[in-house]
Parts: sequence; structure tokens; C-alpha cells
Amino acid sequence: MKASHKLSLCAFCCLVLFSLLSRSQNTPIQKEHGIVTSSIDTSVKPGDDFYHFANGNWIKHTDIPPDRAAMDVWAKLGDLSNQRMADLIKEIASSNAGAGSELRKVADLYNSYMDEQGIEAKGVSPLKARLDAIAAIRDKKQLARALGETLRADVDALNNTNFHTPNLFGLWVAPGFNDSDHYAAYLMQGGVILPDREYYLSDSESMQKIRLQYQTHMAAMLKLAGLSNPEARAKGIFDLELAIAKTHRTLAENEDIHKANNTWTRSDFSAKAPGLDWNEYFSGAGMSNVKSFIVWQSEAFTGESALVTSTSLDTWKDWLSFHEIESYAGFLPKAFADERFAFFGKELSGTPQQRPRWQRGVFLVDDFLGDAIGKVYAEKYFPASSKEQAQAMVANLIAAFRKRIEALTWMSASTKAEAEAKLSTLYVGIGYPETWHDYSNYEVKADDLFGNIWRGRLAEYHRQVARLGKPVDRKEWSMTPQTVNAVNLPLQNALNFPAAILQPPFFDPKAPAAVNYGAIGTVIGHEISHTFDTEGSAFDSKGRVRNWWTPEDLKHFEASTAKLAAQYDTYKPFPDLSMNGKQTLGENIADVAGVSAAYDGYKASGQVAPAVDGYSSDQQFFIAFGQNWGEKLREAALRQQVMTDPHSPGEYRADTVRNIDAWYNAFDPKPGEALYLAPGERVRIW
Ligand SMILES: [Zn+2]
Repeated sequence: MKASHKLSLCAFCCLVLFSLLSRSQNTPIQKEHGIVTSSIDTSVKPGDDFYHFANGNWIKHTDIPPDRAAMDVWAKLGDLSNQRMADLIKEIASSNAGAGSELRKVADLYNSYMDEQGIEAKGVSPLKARLDAIAAIRDKKQLARALGETLRADVDALNNTNFHTPNLFGLWVAPGFNDSDHYAAYLMQGGVILPDREYYLSDSESMQKIRLQYQTHMAAMLKLAGLSNPEARAKGIFDLELAIAKTHRTLAENEDIHKANNTWTRSDFSAKAPGLDWNEYFSGAGMSNVKSFIVWQSEAFTGESALVTSTSLDTWKDWLSFHEIESYAGFLPKAFADERFAFFGKELSGTPQQRPRWQRGVFLVDDFLGDAIGKVYAEKYFPASSKEQAQAMVANLIAAFRKRIEALTWMSASTKAEAEAKLSTLYVGIGYPETWHDYSNYEVKADDLFGNIWRGRLAEYHRQVARLGKPVDRKEWSMTPQTVNAVNLPLQNALNFPAAILQPPFFDPKAPAAVNYGAIGTVIGHEISHTFDTEGSAFDSKGRVRNWWTPEDLKHFEASTAKLAAQYDTYKPFPDLSMNGKQTLGENIADVAGVSAAYDGYKASGQVAPAVDGYSSDQQFFIAFGQNWGEKLREAALRQQVMTDPHSPGEYRADTVRNIDAWYNAFDPKPGEALYLAPGERVRIW
């Protein structure tokens, strides 16, 4: 539902994709249980600007810390989660856990990152062996093999909306589109490092500037790594990335499941995408035995493969070298990490300062050994009582959805029956998973950071490849318990609500029902809604890609969602950049549906909150929802979100209350106020 500190973004399903959003301590700590009235700006009319009404005072009094691209309530909880992880890691590090044990791996990985002296002493030497191997490539056949060796499990289309990788291509292992009982191999486009093809192709001034800065950054990295003629090489690499970007699908196109369902056998690759020596590629990837793949962006595979023929071997070798350097820059001496941050942190997201090293160390352990920490985290920070209460809320929300679907006059009985089947077979994971990842094939050494990263990525790749063809575990989680987020996994017909989001201010056992339903209830409703939105409607109750809608029902659904896309198209975060209603449609539908169902759940609870500072129980419900989305973003970060994220900025998420009839009853906005919509103009999906 939101994005994460990892550079990948979460999406279809997850609540927020905090690609860049990093968070801090300055958010007002809630002292009472319920809405934060001190955040409200009473000088703003709710009907004119609900977002600034609910959050304006907080926005006025909040500064973005220098090491962050953004600040919001998710950040505050993220900080709490990170601090807890850091404490756990410290405890683990001093416990002298047995060699080879998971806890020892946690301690050794963290210590290898914190050993700055050791990292400086080694200099570029860990990378040197990789660069020498690339320099030794003599022909396109060897190039194909080397490209295959870079394949990693570093993309995730549906659970994380991460549709491309800096490597030539990326692997995602997930339940098959056409056989959801078994894991299949999905391949995705790659080859570019900037966040999206638009960064290469848009002629806006800010993107033109970024492209020049990127080439300067490339040259600086090549120089640090000791390569000659860095400027000339950078130009060649950039031109190749630009050519690759032109073959890529846009984010909105990537979200179209039906366009992605392309099964290619091994022989299809040379027939449909000539150029790259595919036998060598798959052999290098260790996937010679895999007979078929689902190729998400078929035309990108055709285009990228042709570029292997049309672009010189030397340029490809430079491209490989640069991508290798960039991929490990954060784990090399300080000069590399600083140069990387100067471009990706300062220029691309507007953040003046790097996070303290210990925090980056925590993120690293979370990335590579997330479940090892998660086990300890869940045991320590997620009481059984929270699990029970959250389960009860989810049950109420599902009941609210069921009622809404039953009451739809436009939906046919057969479509309703499959929708009902999806609801009744939905797996809802609360707090933490039932089984944990096994890290026994991951070797960690306390004095070898570079090797730890290399082996960690490879171990995850091998773990994923080993699952191909095996039966699917529908209860498998895609988030760790310490993640402040939530996710819908359409191929598993499952939801995950990690422990770290099930705490105040989202979920507070001591807060009134109106506030809990407005805060976490709308999040739960959002995730359930993904089961039925533009993408969820492509999957049946078993997670198969199947059109279970009658043509008339689908037509009605598409007509009402087109209205919502048009509504978001009118929002303009910058004079030269509008929202893309189609790119954000699935998430915007989930917000409208989530608020509607959460409101029903709150009403069904029968509880009425006492007024707080004059705000009624219903008003508290909507204010709690609006306060989920209070945020401050740096301009570059906001631009990046608008261009690369399926989630709308917080302001437009909060303002979606304009589509909800109950909001009109609660705040009585008048025609003429900016958010006011006549009843016929409000978008009602469910
Ligand atoms: Zn979502």
C-alpha cells in the first residue's frame, strides 16, 4: 500500500511504495488515543482542501530532516521499527551466537557493514576481479554468457510493482498466470538505472537536467574504479541506456496483466527476440533446464536483444562495468558511496544528507536476513491481543465488502458468485508469517562485506530458481513483520498485514472504533479492494488469470473507474507535471473502496466516539483517514513519485473523501467549494 526504504517500490497491492520516502523522529508523538487535533488547520475549510484541513498545522510545523526525502506518519513508525531492529541487532551481536546460526549471520552481516576501516583498506580490490572478468570478454557469445550470469531475482511485478532491473533482465518466481498451483518463471525488462523510462525520454527541463547530471555521475564512478576515458565511456553507456529505455513499456502498460501474459518456450526467444545468444544467456543464468517463461514485456525483450547485435562489444562491456560498479557502490569505500548518494540522494530525491551508517546497516540486514530479525521482532513486539483485535477488524471489513457486493444492482449473479468465492477463500495474514525463510544456504563472513552482498543476492536467486515447478504455498508472506506497510498478493489470493503497521497511530486498542476504522480500517479495506480492482479483477479465486466478469459487468466497472481516472488526471502537482489517472487507477480505486468499506465496518461496530474538540464521531473517522496521508516531500522526490509510483501523493489520497456520501453528511461541504462534487459526479465503485 505504500513504498519502502528499499529502492524498489511496492505497489499493486501494497499500501505505499516509499521508494524514497525515508522517515524521522520529528513527527508529533501522539499523546492521546485518537485523532491528533493539534495537526488540524482550522483556518482551512474541509470542503475546499480536506488534506490541509486534517494535516495543515502539522505540515506548517514539520521540517524534513536533512537525511530524508520525505516525512510522514509512516516514517515515524518506520523509525520506531528501525530503532527496534537496531536494538535487536546489538543484542544479537553481543550474544555470541553459534557459528553458522542465523543470529550469527545477522551479527556478522551488520558488523561487516560497520567495519569502515576494513572496507577502506580493501579499496576497489573486491570489485577488481569482476571488472577484470568483464574486460576479458572477447566476443558477443561470451557477452551473452556474462549477461546471463547477472540475472537475479530482483523484480516483483504484482506484490511490489517493481517492473524492471538495472541488469539486462530480471527474474520473478511466483505462481503461474495459467497454473497458479505451481511456481513459474517470469522475466522482466531491464538495463536502465534511472527510475523509469520517462527519465530518459521526457523533454521536461528537470529531466533534461537529470540526464546531464547522470552522465557526470557515470564518469565519476568509472574514474573512481580506475577506468580510462571516463567521459567518453559515459556517453556510450548513456546512449545505450537511452536506446534500451525506448524499448520499455510504460508503468501504466506494465500494470496490464493481459498484456503481460506471454508464455515463451526456449525456442521462442531466438525466433521472437533475435540478437542475444539465448543458449549462452540461459546457461550463464543456470537456467538451461527451464523450458518456458512468462515474458512480461515481450517487445522489450525483442528490442533489448536486437541491441546486443547493433551495439558494439566495447560499449556493452562498459555498460556491464558501470552497472557492476553502481550495484556495489554502497558497499565499497566511502568515495563510491558518497558519489552514489550525491546523485541518487541529492539530485534524484533532493535529500541533502545520507542516513547515519548504523541505519543503513539495519536496512541491509533487513534486506538480506529480514525473516531472521522478523522472528525475534514479532515475538517481542506483537502481543496476541493485537492479533486477535486486528483479525476481528478484518472479519468486519470482509463482511462489509460482502454486503456491498450483494447489494450491487448492476452486477450479475455469476460475477457475484466468483467475487464471493474470492472473498471466502482469501488468506489474511496478520502480524507475522506461519513459516520463515531458511537462510542456511547463505554464507556470511564478518570481514567480507562485498562477498556478503554478492553471496546474498546469489543465494536468494538460487532459492527462487529452486522453487520453479514446485507447488505454491498460498500462505507465504512477501513482507517481514517489521515492515510498516500492507500488501495484497493477487496470485495467492492473500493479504499480509505486518506487525509493524498494527500499532498506533494506525491501530490503537485504546482508540475509539471511529478512529481505528478511519486509520487502519481504511488500509485493510484498501487491500481487500485490490482483490476486485482493475488488476484483481483479472484473477479468479484460485489466483488464475481468468476473466470471471460478464462483458456487461466489466463494461460498467470500466465506465465508473474511467471517471475516477479522469478525476485524478485533473490534479496538477507541478505546472509541468500532472497526475496520470491511469497509472494510479488501481490504487485510487482501492482508496475509494477502502474508505467506503471501513465506514460500513465502523457503523456495524455500533460504537459512537465521544466528540473531541467538537469533532463528531463520523468526523473523527474521516480525519483519522486524512491523517494517514499527511506528508512533506522534497520537490525531486514528489516528481519521482508522480512519474514512477502507482500510488498518488498523500494529498490526493486524502481528498478522495469527496467521492464518499458520508463525508458530505459529516462535514457539510457546499457547492462551489473546491472538493465539492454533486451526487451524480461522485465515483462509486462498490
Ligand atoms: Zn494498494
